[in-house]
Amino acid sequence: MKEYDLIIIGGGITGLSTAIAWLKTHPKENNRVLIVEQHSIVGGCVTTFAREGYRFDTAQIIPDISELLDFFGIETVLKKFDDYYARIYIADPVKKNATIFSVPSLKARFIKYLKQLSPDDSRNIDQFFKFLEEMHHELHYLKTEPNFLNILNILIHCPKIIRLRKKTYDQFLRRFNFKNKILYEVLDLFSSFSGLSAERCSALLTASALNTTLEGSYRPVNGFIQFPQIMRKKIESMGGEIRTQAMVKKIIIENNTATAIELSDGTRYHARYIVTTADTKVSLLRLVGIENLKAADKHYAQKADRVAMSPSSFFIHLGIDEALDLKKLGFDCGYNVLTTGGDTFEKMYRAFDKDELLLSDSLFHCGVVCPSLKTGGKPVISIHVVPASVNGWIDLRERDREQYHKKKQNIADHYIRLVEQYMIPGLQQNIRFIDINTPATFARFLNSPTGSNFDMMPVPSNFGMYRLKMRTPIKNLFLPKFSNGIWPSMQAGIQVVDMITGGAIMSGNSRYSVQKKS
Ligand SMILES: Cc1cc2nc3c(=O)[nH]c(=O)nc-3n(C[C@H](O)[C@H](O)[C@H](O)COP(=O)(O)OP(=O)(O)OC[C@H]3O[C@@H](n4cnc5c(N)ncnc54)[C@H](O)[C@@H]3O)c2cc1C
Repeated sequence: MKEYDLIIIGGGITGLSTAIAWLKTHPKENNRVLIVEQHSIVGGCVTTFAREGYRFDTAQIIPDISELLDFFGIETVLKKFDDYYARIYIADPVKKNATIFSVPSLKARFIKYLKQLSPDDSRNIDQFFKFLEEMHHELHYLKTEPNFLNILNILIHCPKIIRLRKKTYDQFLRRFNFKNKILYEVLDLFSSFSGLSAERCSALLTASALNTTLEGSYRPVNGFIQFPQIMRKKIESMGGEIRTQAMVKKIIIENNTATAIELSDGTRYHARYIVTTADTKVSLLRLVGIENLKAADKHYAQKADRVAMSPSSFFIHLGIDEALDLKKLGFDCGYNVLTTGGDTFEKMYRAFDKDELLLSDSLFHCGVVCPSLKTGGKPVISIHVVPASVNGWIDLRERDREQYHKKKQNIADHYIRLVEQYMIPGLQQNIRFIDINTPATFARFLNSPTGSNFDMMPVPSNFGMYRLKMRTPIKNLFLPKFSNGIWPSMQAGIQVVDMITGGAIMSGNSRYSVQKKS
């Protein structure tokens, strides 16, 4: 049986980040690292694919992550959305038109914009941003595994984080008593980034996402696949191994210690440490096994069993005729939300709770991106519809291909029609190619029975101090899964290596920063 110092299950951004962080901290010894990835390419959720000359990305935008890119040695050209980075279309289904709000890059411009929208809320807006800034500063006191003194420090220095820890983003926004409800609509954009309605999403997560995107957002030229491709080369140049097309079936536990992994062909690899970045429930309930987990820690096992996973989605990718002038329609920005506003997103979640998908002309919410305008290539548009339940989709795809295709086409047609109605006149007649990802696609691609796009659902009870601990109760087994985003996944890779090495990279801080506080 081959022996490694570190085995990482999954070659997504978290796994790749973990490998580089480990190899950087172990340049001379203990540097036998293996990543095991089920697919033929690495990247997981972060991928770019080409069909009939059109190039599509799964990811759309990232904030300024230059510190992390430097840490991982990723040299790539990023293009910034300079003017405005996101737009919100609030649709009026009666009048059949939409009001557009364009969110400008740079904090000062955003504040000015909000004040122009609602001059009467000027003071509330200032208080809101003051709170965010102070909260952002408090993040530097957080430790991945705080000891007694750290907790005291956090209690003294992080009042805002403590206040928000159990709050949803909606509860957080309401603290500021904005008089003009338009401000709620605009600020709700950031819950769309979290993939969860404001009524459910952790205030800490969404406020942090807001803070990190304020200065603007970016896309890598040549697609997001650049990140995993460069990271893979880096790992191999540092002596790490990557085994693709290898599915981990089991994590071997002996005396409450993770000692090896077993692949579906029966091959076993031994390691001192195992880091799993597969879907959280799959990792803990299938690869480790609930009985092993219960034997180690009953409470952790219960939490793993009950943890809510994020929903799945539909992703409708369209190749568009060059004749359609998307730039003129203002699509050269990172993200657009088309919504009927108010509590629409929450209503979609209530339907999701019942395994239903709302297909309504009077209630809708989706994301629309047109990355080709920023980073080149033939024109493409992607429509992202969250939340969607996986139930019924896997079975239908296996049982009745024709029905499966009809059903997904029906959903795509509905959203294409809405996008045409409110955002892009003439869209339908200019579509030259269509590719539809369903929850079954995500379930298969991400090896997630729930087809979860963002791993654990970032509700307050799943987030921050309440999140399933990265150090699992199984000795030498770690689970650095963050709910949502490339930036947090890179952070998680550094955090887990910092944790295993007793603080070799950032002295136990939970956030990598060049000006780190110890
Ligand atoms: C549609 C979509 C759009 C997104 N858009 C953005 C965006 O615009 N900006 C942003 O910052 N973030 C975005 N995200 C989120 C971001 O991509 C993810 O949070 C992040 O990439 C997760 O990385 P990960 O490595 O933790 O997980 P994953 O990417 O899921 O990687 C896990 C890897 O493990 C492999 N694996 C699973 N089980 C096994 C097994 N048993 N054996 C071997 N291999 C296994 C999988 O194949 C996969 O490669 C988006 C996510 C999705 C799904």
